[in-house]
Amino acid sequence: MNVAIIGGGAAGMTAASRVKALRPDWNVMVFEKTNFVSHAPCGIPFYVSGIVEYFEELCTYDTSFFKSERGIDVHTNSKVFEVGEGYLLVEEEGKERRYEWDKLLFATGSRAKRLNVKYEELDGVLCVNDISNAEKVKKLALKSEDIVIVGSGYIGVEMAEAVTRLGKKVTVVEIAERPLPEYDAEIAAIIKSEMEKFVNLRLGERVVAFEGKDRVEKVVTNRGEYKCDLAIVAVGVHPNTEIAKNFVKLGKSEAIKTNSKMETSKENVYAAGDCAESLNVVTGKQDWIPLATPANKMGYVAGVNIAGYELHYPGSLKSQITSFYDVEIGKVGLSEHEAIREGYEVISSFITTKSTARYFIDGLIHLKVVAERSGRVLGIQAVGKGVAMRIYAASALLYRGANVRDLFFTDFPYYPPVSRVWDPLVVAARNLFRKLGIP
Ligand SMILES: Cc1cc2nc3c(=O)[nH]c(=O)nc-3n(C[C@H](O)[C@H](O)[C@H](O)COP(=O)(O)OP(=O)(O)OC[C@H]3O[C@@H](n4cnc5c(N)ncnc54)[C@H](O)[C@@H]3O)c2cc1C
Repeated sequence: MNVAIIGGGAAGMTAASRVKALRPDWNVMVFEKTNFVSHAPCGIPFYVSGIVEYFEELCTYDTSFFKSERGIDVHTNSKVFEVGEGYLLVEEEGKERRYEWDKLLFATGSRAKRLNVKYEELDGVLCVNDISNAEKVKKLALKSEDIVIVGSGYIGVEMAEAVTRLGKKVTVVEIAERPLPEYDAEIAAIIKSEMEKFVNLRLGERVVAFEGKDRVEKVVTNRGEYKCDLAIVAVGVHPNTEIAKNFVKLGKSEAIKTNSKMETSKENVYAAGDCAESLNVVTGKQDWIPLATPANKMGYVAGVNIAGYELHYPGSLKSQITSFYDVEIGKVGLSEHEAIREGYEVISSFITTKSTARYFIDGLIHLKVVAERSGRVLGIQAVGKGVAMRIYAASALLYRGANVRDLFFTDFPYYPPVSRVWDPLVVAARNLFRKLGIP
């Protein structure tokens, strides 16, 4: 049996390892267009800031490990440019090669969205989605004095911290009226004031041009101009589905439609990771959730099913955590504006309290719980100290469809340096009792 996997990132290598573990005698081929497999783009900001010293540390395992320890036929620098019934055309070592497959997995990931302005011919305008770019970004960042980051999603926020840690003057330009626009205004306001301590944060501004002779010298927006030696564009991602789009069905997001076995519209063809749609556990609808943990699990499920066993991917909650300096930021499920957009009638509670006992100096947390009128919890967001712990707990509850009573009665443990007798999650749930008529 020939299994072909396109893409050697999180989803592709997890699937390949699973198939080989369950079917050691099958031929499992991975085609990866870069020189790296099992790479971790999530580590790029920490490599740029210097927290991670060596670039190689961004790859969990190298190619030889997958070849010798797991028996996977890994082809690096091999770009698949055509997919047909039972075959692939691959560009490798300057030649075109044809490979046959019985089962195929698309694990081609996503790529950075481009801005709708011209900047191809200018040096110094980069994105950070590709780990092969990480070294270039770091070298340029070290040489630069002024850096502009376009976009304040989590990648923009993490890169802003990374380059300010290098001592650079940093401007962050965001088209929305708040940073991390997926979060609600109350949470974003805290993030904004924290970011403003370190960067020139320009909200509600749209980039209209990058200017310079050969290198970028300034970024022009609808409201101003910002000097820069390096511009990092972090305005979101787009699924890499060009080679798939004429072969299997895509969803609304332009990622590949899949079912819970990660099967596509075509028999024996699977998709996993950032190039695939999957279920949003909160809304129960197909969604596109380009994050690392879903990518790994989708790859795992695809691998099991490709190997002829049966496993279903239940979907994800879009759980996420990030940080800006000492402030942790996290979200699971829907924010209030997302829930309203989805058509839910919502109630919410926003609190500012301590995540530790009163007598510890640190520990301020701002937390928001959003629920349906029926009481089902739709989402939790937080910023401050002790956020990761609350988002982990909330993820487990939301995954099981918890309601406000479950949130209140869950027996969260108490230890003064890290939690409270009345945990912030419990206090927010108790506030919602009033709105639900619970005494
Ligand atoms: C800076 C940054 C920080 C991030 N931080 C986090 C985080 O903290 N938490 C989190 O959950 N997620 C994070 N993510 C997102 C996470 O990295 C992705 O969700 C995850 O890598 C997706 O895995 P994947 O296997 O689907 O795709 P990828 O890891 O992108 O792998 C896809 C692979 O396919 C290859 N490929 C594409 N087309 C072809 C082709 N035609 N032929 C051959 N090979 C091809 C690509 O070269 C690539 O190696 C971050 C991403 C970035 C960029």
